[in-house]
Amino acid sequence: MVGVDHVLEKLSTVIDPDLKKDIVSMGMIKDLELKEDNLKFTLELTTPACPFNSEIESDVRNAIGSLDGIKKFDLNVTAKVMEGRSLDDANSMSTVKNIIGVASGKGGVGKSTISLNLALALSKTGAKVEFLDTDIYGPSIPLMLGIKKAYMEVNDNKLQPMISHGIKVVSFGFFAEQEHQAAIYRGPIISGILKQFLIDTNWSDLDYLIVDLPPGTGDIPLTLAQTIPITGILVVTTPQDMASNVAVKAIGMFNKLNIPILGVVENMSYFICLQCNSKHYIFGDGGAKKVSEKYEIPFVGEIPLNTSIMKGSDIGKPVILENIETANAFDSTAKNIAAQCSILAAKIKDENKTGNLK
Ligand code: ADP
Repeated sequence: MVGVDHVLEKLSTVIDPDLKKDIVSMGMIKDLELKEDNLKFTLELTTPACPFNSEIESDVRNAIGSLDGIKKFDLNVTAKVMEGRSLDDANSMSTVKNIIGVASGKGGVGKSTISLNLALALSKTGAKVEFLDTDIYGPSIPLMLGIKKAYMEVNDNKLQPMISHGIKVVSFGFFAEQEHQAAIYRGPIISGILKQFLIDTNWSDLDYLIVDLPPGTGDIPLTLAQTIPITGILVVTTPQDMASNVAVKAIGMFNKLNIPILGVVENMSYFICLQCNSKHYIFGDGGAKKVSEKYEIPFVGEIPLNTSIMKGSDIGKPVILENIETANAFDSTAKNIAAQCSILAAKIKDENKTGNLK
């Protein structure tokens, strides 16, 4: 007769392709019940945005299928996002499992477009996601969300974010006096406001907080990196050498601050011709990939140049909600980033274990 040990032994042959570890030792098998020849358990993935969820599920089914003596098998698949931050004190926003900063070397590469669409792509998978826009130089997020008149209340000393397209959002742009106007602040004030936005805002218990950073290496990225532990940075660039060269400067800054780089994403990578349906790399090919190889940073995706992306932003309906073909590029990029967060989280878990043993 098959025993629980046999089942676990079989399941431990299933390897999570991202974490490169077996699903039993990663604690992904929960609530296992074996009654005579009836087996049931829950497979708990490390994120609902796992790029390999169907592959892992089918490996599990095959592993159980190869066991003699199981007549009935019930599999429940869920996900629980892992803690991707090393928390050091009570002010560290401990209810947020992952904080992802989205940075670029220079403006106009589509950083805000990418960060907003990625937040919505992650939210679509069922993950709990909220959004903080700190790009004071290009307050485009209110426009991209179609928010003409912003207001944010303060209740119990906590700033209440606005809710847009189903996610809570706070934006420096909400404080501009008029639409299309930048909010103007001096450096030390900016840092103070950012800290308040992070710590004194009524964020929910979250899987991912996406923080859209201003381009470059100024006060805000520095304050973010030094105020609270964050999971890591996603770097947005375009294929041109000039964009890659400045992206490298941002990467250098975060490296110096010991902030992990989760990945590099290339925006406006290619254009799909409507006539011949083939990809054209009009700005050159492989700029971001070269950066990724040289600096050993995961390459997490390429987003096409597409007028629907620009139009969606202009009319306040992010493309991810409207255009299925372009949404695919964002979906797969979002999954790759979530996977990188899980990899870092697993590393933190391992380090804590080793620390506890010392
Ligand atoms: P950044 O935040 O880097 O300054 P934005 O996200 O504000 O850049 O984008 C700059 C402009 O480029 C916007 O008009 C936006 O709609 C457009 N844009 C961004 N990405 C794309 C894309 N992949 N295809 C077409 N237009 C894009």
